[in-house]
Amino acid sequence: MKTVRLITCEEPFQARLIQGALENEGIASVLHNENTSNVLRGLTPTITGVDVLVYEDEYDRALALLERNQMIPEQLRYCPQCHSPHIRYVLKKGHRLRAVVAAVLSLLATAPPGTAHWEYVCDDCGARFDRPVGRKKEKDTDTE
Ligand SMILES: [Zn+2]
Repeated sequence: MKTVRLITCEEPFQARLIQGALENEGIASVLHNENTSNVLRGLTPTITGVDVLVYEDEYDRALALLERNQMIPEQLRYCPQCHSPHIRYVLKKGHRLRAVVAAVLSLLATAPPGTAHWEYVCDDCGARFDRPVGRKKEKDTDTE
């Protein structure tokens, strides 16, 4: 059966947390670590990130579970460009250092770390965006 990427986690423990949540719902998942495959290919393991893969026919259930656990905003799961539901939540490439700096700053400011360094990627049109939109309604106007 075909597997699809549900989410990419920066930290392995996040991936295991999600995997455990999925298991509770009887959804099988596989963790794929970029580092492991790079090491096997003899490459320097500079990329981090753990992909959580689920079977294609369980993707919707898995995504709904993440929504319920507020791992992604509820109902806001559509690409603003093409309204595809095939979007992923990933840490922005090249923002790891800034993410660490922001985490340190937020510690100093005793504020909870934000999610400003995460973004969504649409699998269908390739758009990158900060916020997914809800199901397409009456009229989608750009209101700022
Ligand atoms: Zn799209």
